[in-house]
Amino acid sequence: MASKIESPDIEKNKSNFPYFSLLGVLLVVILFTVLWRPLNLERTVYVPLTPQVETTVTDNINSPVVGDARIEVVGGKSTTDQITESSDVPEDEIVKDELDDIIEDKGNTVQYTVARGDTLHDILLRYNINRRDVYQLTTNFKQLANLRIGQQVSWTTDDSHNLQSFSWIISSNNIRIYEKSGNKFIESSETVEVVPQDVVIKGDIKTSFVADARKSGLTSSEIGVITRALQWRLDFRRLKVGDKFSVILSREVHGKRLSNSQLIGVRIKNGSKDYYAILADDGQYYDINGGSLSQSFFRYPLEKQARVSSGFNPRRLNPVTGIVTPHNGVDFAVSRGTPVLSVGNGEVVIAKYSGSAGNYIAIRHGRQYMTTYMHLDKILVKPGQQVKQGDKIGLSGNTGRSTGPHLHFELHINNKPVNPLTASLPISEGLTGKSKKAFLSKVKDIRSQLNF
Ligand SMILES: [Zn+2]
Repeated sequence: MASKIESPDIEKNKSNFPYFSLLGVLLVVILFTVLWRPLNLERTVYVPLTPQVETTVTDNINSPVVGDARIEVVGGKSTTDQITESSDVPEDEIVKDELDDIIEDKGNTVQYTVARGDTLHDILLRYNINRRDVYQLTTNFKQLANLRIGQQVSWTTDDSHNLQSFSWIISSNNIRIYEKSGNKFIESSETVEVVPQDVVIKGDIKTSFVADARKSGLTSSEIGVITRALQWRLDFRRLKVGDKFSVILSREVHGKRLSNSQLIGVRIKNGSKDYYAILADDGQYYDINGGSLSQSFFRYPLEKQARVSSGFNPRRLNPVTGIVTPHNGVDFAVSRGTPVLSVGNGEVVIAKYSGSAGNYIAIRHGRQYMTTYMHLDKILVKPGQQVKQGDKIGLSGNTGRSTGPHLHFELHINNKPVNPLTASLPISEGLTGKSKKAFLSKVKDIRSQLNF
């Protein structure tokens, strides 16, 4: 850069005073290098590295922070702590497939079943909905705090994540609708009696589960529910030609529009093995013995809790440049060589040195969850390897663009980074006592319909 700026001067000066001017230019170049280097370094440090990050940046600028944008920095000054590493953008992107698209709900309308621990606020933010809209809806309609486990909600957004309408199905004949009008939402209710109908859909695997399920008449949303329910038991990519599926749904139809659909039970035959997911009264899915289908996660990828030197902050503002550089994970202040543990069972999808992330591991847990571990000193696993919860996968370090030993840890749900310290994680408890008894008698009836 310096030589380019100076070159016209060299030409000019050469003709007049060749030696003095050369000396002068040299001096200028040396001064330039000495003075500019530190500034330059700082500059490159904070500039987002990939287009992906840039999109997030513009998104963040457009949506003002309302409500609970917390900076979770424990200990130390936040301004200095925020700069333990410049950016954690690995060069290697995690490869996606068609199931990811379905799970991410790419369409503008999303149907969602309320699960244990959910609040409307958290659900909508998890789907990247404009904070201003989430704030409007949840503060103006306090009754929305009464969502129950198993209830269906659905919403429609425009392409910029602005909420257009939100429906809350309290019961089959009581639906609340919140429609955006200007900057506000207006509530209305539909009380048409709609009788839900049980539908049984069966099919064979000819190409892939998604393609064949669609061909058999299942909607993307229904396929999403099935793959989420069985994600810990079955790898849907491993289904082969000749495998079978059978599904019972309770569908509600308003006129010609399918307004609500609930998965009652599913059976998937993979080779000689059968996988079931059956809906219980608590809105969760269990296997035919009432055993849990979900998996538990550790909150921390470490043997002992460690100080958080920099918290999750999607709107982290660099104090020097004023540029928003999201911090998509949590930094734990641990010394070099500290064992790093996988927070859950899963498959290693990436394990290699990757740009500013340094030695980097990504683990896929089921279909919806992904964890990443960065700046490691040593990687102890290989891509494709199956790991169990608590397995030692690496040693923490200071590799990549990092200014001190620490572990950068991320949790992604539906391919979106979330705060690993506060995200609601699946709980793995089976049914017991009365609820198990009620469940098992229901299973008998459902199972008989799930034949091939
Ligand atoms: Zn970090």
